[in-house]
Amino acid sequence: MDNKITDVYAREILDSRGNPTVEVTVEAGEISAKAKVPSGASTGTHEALELRDNDPARYGGKGVLKAVENVNQKISKVLIGQPADRLSVLDQRMIDLDGTANKSRLGANAILGASLACARAGAMACNLPLYKFIKDFYRFKFSGFSLPVPLVNVINGGKHADSNLDFQEFWIIPKKFTTIKERIRAMSEIFHALGKVVLERGYDTDLGNEGGYAPDLNNTEEVWQMIMLAIERAGYQAGEQIFLGLDAGSSEFFNVKKQTYAIKLAGQELTTEELSVLYQKWLAKYPILAFEDPFAEDEWPAWKNFTEQILKINKDIIIIGDDLFTTNVALLRRGISEKSANAVLIKPNQIGTLTETVNCIRLAQEHKFKIAVSHRSGETEDDFIADLAVATNADYIKAGAPSRSERVVKYNRLMEIEDEINETMKQ
Ligand code: PGA
Ligand code: ZN
Repeated sequence: MDNKITDVYAREILDSRGNPTVEVTVEAGEISAKAKVPSGASTGTHEALELRDNDPARYGGKGVLKAVENVNQKISKVLIGQPADRLSVLDQRMIDLDGTANKSRLGANAILGASLACARAGAMACNLPLYKFIKDFYRFKFSGFSLPVPLVNVINGGKHADSNLDFQEFWIIPKKFTTIKERIRAMSEIFHALGKVVLERGYDTDLGNEGGYAPDLNNTEEVWQMIMLAIERAGYQAGEQIFLGLDAGSSEFFNVKKQTYAIKLAGQELTTEELSVLYQKWLAKYPILAFEDPFAEDEWPAWKNFTEQILKINKDIIIIGDDLFTTNVALLRRGISEKSANAVLIKPNQIGTLTETVNCIRLAQEHKFKIAVSHRSGETEDDFIADLAVATNADYIKAGAPSRSERVVKYNRLMEIEDEINETMKQ
């Protein structure tokens, strides 16, 4: 089959918050592949640039017509005629065309849409499922596919809700199950049990941006208590099968000048040391397995101290850098040498191409860092990250609570992949 790219074009579509985002279509003869680009709310300062029109007359300035035009007028020119399955060459051509460190000329949203659509077109040209194509193309050496453990954001706060919770995400982690179907079932049953607990306590069950409940509470610790009760009511054992986790999203409530973290719900401004003590207090009481962004994005010494202290308490705990690393190999290299964390969050749109995303994953794996492939708070019905997590043997996936289609679509794809893998093993 001829696999040369014959057309590349973009459209402005809506994401799960109703804001514009970019969809790119790549055609290679008969093949037509699409990708849709997600968008963050609590974005890290060091992320690649998401190009918005800033025209207040359209979508409050959030339009992406410039990014769409960059795909149609510029990116298409460097991709058309190239083989669709040569992903690293295609990505490099776009990186060269952009020529900036943070993809500010063409926009990381324009470039990523094209990059992911090329990956899908390449997989179709090779007649392979996307996860298998990505694994083979980037020469991942692991044998036998395994499915990631979901980090499920069941209570949303911070920038993802209008509630009074300062911390951004409270997770359940269905770890001790052998199949993704069992993990997903546990997640869903606990999520529904939690809804009842939230209601019983007189709070409302409105949902936040990532599909978790977003109640106004009397204090933060109530979240942990409600989740523990929900796990028990759903018939699971906390600390055995189900663990807890927190993405503090702390860059959002850090005051750089004062060097304090404002916990409005408690009416407190905590120093780095005091916040660390609070995390350790929770750790002593609840079966917490993961901390993401416990400290702000440029607070490297705080991260190093925290990681050292926590791993002394329990070496299995994962400390995940999101805003700290922004899927960027240079930042991750620093984190590895300073032992700032032991895991990295992987968001393709933080860096802007699939190849650079894979490079970051590989660097992390070479240094025994755990991998969590992640959605963004603004998502679409695109399920690419499910295939990416399986293709790269990621330990974890963040795809939100099982209550909104743009989240659920990732879980449904994981279950489909599991079936496919089991079928091929039988053959
Ligand atoms: P964002 O949040 O997509 O709004 O950046 C997700 C996260 O912080 O992990
Ligand atoms: Zn995060």
